[in-house]
Amino acid sequence: MNLFEELGLKEELVKAIADLGFEAPTPIQQKAIPILISGTTDFVGLAQTGTGKTAAFGMPLLQLIDVTQKHPQALIICPTRELCLQICNDLQDYKKYLKSAVAEPVYGGASIVMQIRALKKGVHIVVATPGRLIDMIERKAIDLEKVKYVVLDEADEMLNMGFREDIDFVLKNTIKRESTWMFSATMPPEVRAISKNFMRDPQEVTVGKKNTANVNIDHQYFITPAQSRYETLKRLVDFNPGMYGIIFTRTKADAQEITERLNKEGYDIEALHGDLTQQQRDKVMGRFRQKSIQLLIATDVAARGIDVEGITHVINYELPDDMEVYTHRSGRTARAGKSGICISICHSRESYKIKQLERMTNAQFHKLDIPTGKDVCRKQFFHFMDKLMQADISHGDYETYMPDLLKKFEDVSKEEVLKRVSALEFNHFLKYYQNAEDLNARGDFRDRRPDNNNRDMGGRRERGSFNRDSGYARLFINLGTKDGFYKASFLQFILDESNLSKDALGKIDLREMNAWIEIDKSAAGKMIKAMDGKKHNNRLIRMNEADGGFKRPNDEGGGRKRIPVREKRY
Ligand code: AMP
Repeated sequence: MNLFEELGLKEELVKAIADLGFEAPTPIQQKAIPILISGTTDFVGLAQTGTGKTAAFGMPLLQLIDVTQKHPQALIICPTRELCLQICNDLQDYKKYLKSAVAEPVYGGASIVMQIRALKKGVHIVVATPGRLIDMIERKAIDLEKVKYVVLDEADEMLNMGFREDIDFVLKNTIKRESTWMFSATMPPEVRAISKNFMRDPQEVTVGKKNTANVNIDHQYFITPAQSRYETLKRLVDFNPGMYGIIFTRTKADAQEITERLNKEGYDIEALHGDLTQQQRDKVMGRFRQKSIQLLIATDVAARGIDVEGITHVINYELPDDMEVYTHRSGRTARAGKSGICISICHSRESYKIKQLERMTNAQFHKLDIPTGKDVCRKQFFHFMDKLMQADISHGDYETYMPDLLKKFEDVSKEEVLKRVSALEFNHFLKYYQNAEDLNARGDFRDRRPDNNNRDMGGRRERGSFNRDSGYARLFINLGTKDGFYKASFLQFILDESNLSKDALGKIDLREMNAWIEIDKSAAGKMIKAMDGKKHNNRLIRMNEADGGFKRPNDEGGGRKRIPVREKRY
């Protein structure tokens, strides 16, 4: 009996696992599979991406479904379409010897008609993002009547994205649900509330420490003035010539702008963010996976859960506000036992964040100097020379040309040939870096130079964690860059709507799907009253007081009526 068989998995699944080359179950699989294949126990798994959690719930689902019954029996809900497709791909691998089992993805940004058609053909497992799933339910295109198993994958992220009501709605409307399984990297109160409200005595399993998946990551950070961030990025990319990496930005606008700049300067890079159509995103991902592009620049939402082999570097163009996001980002590298590097470009006032990260990941972060122009040239030079020495000369018909070549170079020394080859390859580099400036932020920097990134929109407080005693309240709003806002236009919008003065505002954290606004406690009520329940572009605005980055809905316990207007997030 092999180790997977011992967990109770049936032969067809064990065979598929063997084909995938999995030798032993990961800790989450060891703990979850025996519980989940019973089909009757509710379950909470605290596990991050990279721990093998997809197989931990995917295999039991495939074992439990009755393939002779052609209706949805299991529902997997996850935050993004990329993750949705990835889960479906994984299920495809696991069901290699269970040909009649059907799993279909349901996600926004692609034709709903095609997805409805696919569901109509008969499906056992539906993998869905919340927005599109609700659309399907409202169109009566999906039958939840006989769904026995519901899996919430990356529950914390779904709640962070404002999908609380959607999840509640689905859980309330799967009346034949026999078990609910929730996977989450963290357990904030909102995730806890779901388990309290919708689960019966869930068995809770935590795998490893938070850094289990990341033990092979070398965390490095570089401190530079904010205005040198782009140059620093370029220099770090140049300093790592074999880099195959993902660069994370906070906003789509940043991702787009940096891509355009780097493209113009000849870098092999493409962007992945929510403004692209699904087709464009698939194309970009395909090219990145095939290594036709060396660098991918992405927003957190777009890159959520992406599993690409061999990523050598993750670069945080800016440190994320949410420390958990750091773990998700860095987890894109050092997968499957390999090692990787996670680089963060910071400014001098972010050292407290690095300390927080060190505590959270239980890992040491290494502060390194941003390489000088000379360092970069040297690195590139020797990288090229290594490549030159490793070039495969066993196949070409070089001998034909050798006599003539040798004659041509009769009077040229080896040294001169090397110099000429280098000149061809490196002149532009040497020129560019000839008088390259020192990009390291120096000790007295913070007192002297303005830092653009810290000029917050309200103009008064610095970035940093929210301080409850600061006299500010923190408001959540379900509008973000996805709704066409950029920082200035968003500020203008909320000021116009609320008729409040800019002085009442602190930091505004505008993200793709939503935003958090710090506001004078005395003005918070007025702001909520002015915004909550109003419409923007035909979409209902929801605003309420937030806590610790998570929306705190006023329907704790599921009392409030569901808002009928759908949020189109994808
Ligand atoms: P996940 O946490 O589901 O995103 O999985 C992370 C990666 O681990 C995926 O590439 C899986 O194919 C791989 N994986 C899952 N289970 C195992 C296992 N038992 N042994 C080796 N690799 C695995």
